[in-house]
Amino acid sequence: MISLRNVSKWYGSFPVLKECSIEVKKGEVVVICGPSGSGKSTLIKTINGLEAIQKGDIQVNGISVQDKKTHLALLRIQIGMVFQHFELFPHLSITENLTLAQIKVLKRDKSSAIEKALFMLGKVGLLAQADKFPPQLSGGQKQRVAITRALCMDPLAMLFDEPTSSLDPENISEVLDVMVQLANEGMTMIVVTHEMGFARKVADRMIFMDEGKILEDTLKEDFFHQAKTERARDFIAKIL
Ligand code: ADP
Ligand code: MG
Repeated sequence: MISLRNVSKWYGSFPVLKECSIEVKKGEVVVICGPSGSGKSTLIKTINGLEAIQKGDIQVNGISVQDKKTHLALLRIQIGMVFQHFELFPHLSITENLTLAQIKVLKRDKSSAIEKALFMLGKVGLLAQADKFPPQLSGGQKQRVAITRALCMDPLAMLFDEPTSSLDPENISEVLDVMVQLANEGMTMIVVTHEMGFARKVADRMIFMDEGKILEDTLKEDFFHQAKTERARDFIAKIL
C-alpha cells in the first residue's frame, strides 16, 4: 500500500532523511518513534507529497508520489492526515467542517455528505456535538473531529503525526481509543507517537528514527525486548 525506497531529503546542505525505506501493507499499523528532530514529521509528510524528496522513490497504492504527472491533490484525499494541531475551521459548525471537503472535492451532494458526517460522528461518540463550533469543544473532542473529517473522505490509509502530544492527559485516551478502534477495523496506519501503550495494543511494526535514519524496523515484540541498536534501547528505556 505504501512503499518508500531509499528516500533522502536535504534542507540546503542539512540531510534530514537519509536513505529511508519502509514498506506498509494493507491493514498494517506502523508506529514511528524517535527523538525530536530525527525527521519523523518530514518523513510522513513525504508520503502525500507535502514535503518533496531529492532521492528515492515513494509509491502509494501503486501511484508514484514524486512523479510530476501525479495529481497530488487527489492523492492527498486518499491519504488522511492528522496533525498535532487540529486545524478545524473555527467559524464552521462540526458538521460543516466534516462536509466541506466531501462536497467541494468529492462532489458529494449535501445530504449524503451530512449523512456520512453524522454516521462517522456517531462512531466516535460525538453525535451530540454536530451543531456546535470547534471553540466549544475540548481538545480531545476537536482531535476526534479532525480524525473523523479525514475518515469522511474514505481514505485508503491514515497518517498521524503526534496526534495526542498537544492534549491534556485526560483527553489523550479518548483520542487513542478512536485510533485503536480504527486499527482494529483494519485501517492501514502510520502513526508517529510516543504513546507506547497505544503501540503495544495495535502496532504490527515499530520504526525507530534518529538523525534522519531508520535505525530499527521490527515487529513490536522484538522492538520492546531486543532492539538491535543501543540508541533505540536507550530511547525505549526513557519513554517506557
Ligand atoms: P521530528 O518530527 O522527528 O521532530 P522533523 O521532521 O520535524 O523532526 O525535523 C527534522 C529536522 O529537520 C530537524 O533538525 C528540523 O530542525 C529540520 N527541519 C524541519 N523542517 C525544516 C525546514 N523547513 N527547513 C530547515 N530545516 C527543517
Ligand atoms: Mg515532528
